[in-house]
Amino acid sequence: MKNPFAIAVHGGAGTILKSTMTPEKELLYKQGLTQAIEAGNALLSEGKSSLDAVEAAVIALENFPLFNAGKGAVFTNKGTHEMDASIMNGQTLEAGAVSGISKIKNPIALARVIMDKSGHVFLAGTDAEMFAQQMGFAFEPETYFFEETRFKQWQEVKDSHGYQLDHSGQHGEGKKFGTVGAVAIDQYGNLAAATSTGGMTNKRFGRIGDSPVIGAGTYANNQTCAISCTGHGEYFIRAVVAYDISCLMEYKGYTLKQACDYVVKDKLVKFGGEGGLIAIDKFGNIELPFNSEGMYRACKKNGEETVVKIYED
Ligand code: ASP
Repeated sequence: MKNPFAIAVHGGAGTILKSTMTPEKELLYKQGLTQAIEAGNALLSEGKSSLDAVEAAVIALENFPLFNAGKGAVFTNKGTHEMDASIMNGQTLEAGAVSGISKIKNPIALARVIMDKSGHVFLAGTDAEMFAQQMGFAFEPETYFFEETRFKQWQEVKDSHGYQLDHSGQHGEGKKFGTVGAVAIDQYGNLAAATSTGGMTNKRFGRIGDSPVIGAGTYANNQTCAISCTGHGEYFIRAVVAYDISCLMEYKGYTLKQACDYVVKDKLVKFGGEGGLIAIDKFGNIELPFNSEGMYRACKKNGEETVVKIYED
């Protein structure tokens, strides 16, 4: 008998305030999340792997300009876009990651090819772009990644030494982490996770966050769960968030909910790490915890309605 399958996605966490959200904008965000769920779910229902599903869902989110990944990625201090992504196969524990790349339309597709074809796990910068070229990836001009809102966000901080997590302050929108991610379980009981981001507005010195770091922003293991994080990357790296949740399940017998509640709502809060994550376990249970004001998120289980949410329940 086939196992029930399920998928969850996120489009970032942070201070997403109802007071500054228009109904039109809310609808757009929800459409973006729903499209991603549909892209992944279509593959899962055809019997494709969770790996294919999370890649397809993240590609849909990367192509959607409101999220900080692919088209819509934030500006660096140099006025460029440097993107990070990672993907992990819970069945084999194989992983692929890439950081600091420009010009690649779908960084998650490159992370997948790094996992499948490079013989390595983590590639970075211009040499990773060279690998992409060899693998036949098309390069986009800088103009493809240009988004007016992102440009304005950058203008506000570009002459300072400050950086912003996707967006903070001036527009009254508060802190928002626009990274995207997906986790899924397929009909064969295999788990997978994927995460993609533009990182922080005005970032300098080749700054890399948690998103491409296996164990911090992304982790999948058939014995436990699949996780994709969003939040203040520096804290998520230091707290090794994704692997921490898996470890609590593996070594201490926590349920997915217990592990998520403890790490996101207790440990990270005390540590100062604002953000959230999406998680799915080997039974298909889904948890979408966050310790910020909101998190763009959606999930769908075998045949049931898609659930899309932004704020606390
Ligand atoms: N975690 C990402 C980073 O620090 C930011 C985000 O989640 O939006 O690069």
